Amino acid sequence: MIASTEEPSTRRPAIQLKVRTILNRIQPHAGFVFHDIRLWSRGGQPERIEVTLRAHAGMSRRCSQCQRPAPGYDQLEERTWQHVPLWGIAVWFRYAPRRVECPEHGVVVEHLPWNEGKRTLTTAMMGFLARWARRLSWRETAQIFQVSWEAVYRSVGWFVAWGLAHRELEGVESIGVDEIHWGRGLRAQNFLTLLYQIDGHCRRLLFVGKGRSQRTLRQGLKALGPAVVQGLRFVCSDMWKPYLEVMRVQAGQALHVLDRFHITMHLNQAVDQVRRAESGRLRVASQAAAQQLKHTRWTLLRRGSRVRGKARQKLQALLASKLQTARAWELKETFAHFWKYRSVTWAGAFLDYWTWRAMRSRLEPMKKVARMLRAHESLLLNWFRAKGEISAGAVEGLNNKIRVMTRRSYGFRTFAAMEVALYHTLGRLPEPESTHRYC
Ligand SMILES: [Zn+2]
Repeated sequence: MIASTEEPSTRRPAIQLKVRTILNRIQPHAGFVFHDIRLWSRGGQPERIEVTLRAHAGMSRRCSQCQRPAPGYDQLEERTWQHVPLWGIAVWFRYAPRRVECPEHGVVVEHLPWNEGKRTLTTAMMGFLARWARRLSWRETAQIFQVSWEAVYRSVGWFVAWGLAHRELEGVESIGVDEIHWGRGLRAQNFLTLLYQIDGHCRRLLFVGKGRSQRTLRQGLKALGPAVVQGLRFVCSDMWKPYLEVMRVQAGQALHVLDRFHITMHLNQAVDQVRRAESGRLRVASQAAAQQLKHTRWTLLRRGSRVRGKARQKLQALLASKLQTARAWELKETFAHFWKYRSVTWAGAFLDYWTWRAMRSRLEPMKKVARMLRAHESLLLNWFRAKGEISAGAVEGLNNKIRVMTRRSYGFRTFAAMEVALYHTLGRLPEPESTHRYC
């Protein structure tokens, strides 16, 4: 018995409390009653609460396919479902389902509002586990609520499948196409293609697919549907050729923008290649000179204005030297000005100047980037045409979140598990409705 504190709005502020009362309040099932509720103990310790359900005598049974009333056929053996635990005690539902003879669907199991297919958890329990699995790791969720890891995985899978089936894709105007590395090795199978919505009002993961081919991207666009693809205004991506071609064919009306984040990544890689090659040559020539490049990798990759203290002194010394690495770094830093222009014309002029300098730098990796930028000049300048329309930095932000998730091991042994986890945390999916929110 719980004597609750006064609630002024209700006529009977406190009531005698039975578990049945709670269940009737939070989890009513039309056509069924909570018949018998027992607490089982072992060695004096409460072990589980068993809730036996019965069909309501006056209500007709329904077909599980169409949910229309149908005449009874026979009764199956009793089944059990694990429900949301109460005060740390496991709760189980018991019920012997009947079969009905539906005029349309034939002999099928009756509709059970707490059940979904052949699952052994109630839908409320699946929603409960799925919500916790967004705050905790799947393993922790399984441990705390005393279910298997698979039970958590299946619950999240059900939650996500519902969300994907019910999500709204109207109003998606800008998307980002990205790829990330996943697992071991560099085969095509170890990459994921991702589609993000990057509109100012909504950023979310729209699609994740295995591989980074045209086929994967086409699958993604198919998942969005032709109405969404044809309504796109901006597409943001790297200079990866298969992506560019697919988008040109399928969403020709959209302005294709090369993403700042990806270009910075190419520049950083080029500086790192120059540094590594030079460091190798210097080690052969003299120890002292090689020392100057040692441990500079992270300093070089950082934006110049963000380098402080000792690292700054070391960087100054490096710049004063005639090292190739210093020249490469300086080129990379100079390129940052590009993004500050407001006018497409001036940005274009800067791009000409920068690529001209890079081509004369005698640094092969920098020349390679310069050639790449020249080849994609118009797409690059689209960045200024789309300014203010797409959420700058959205691709980078989502990419970082996904990297953290895929690197930190959550026990996603398979692609399918990882796919579900990514949609669950970054998809902003709608959630299945329920009569009560357990958490
Ligand atoms: Zn039916």
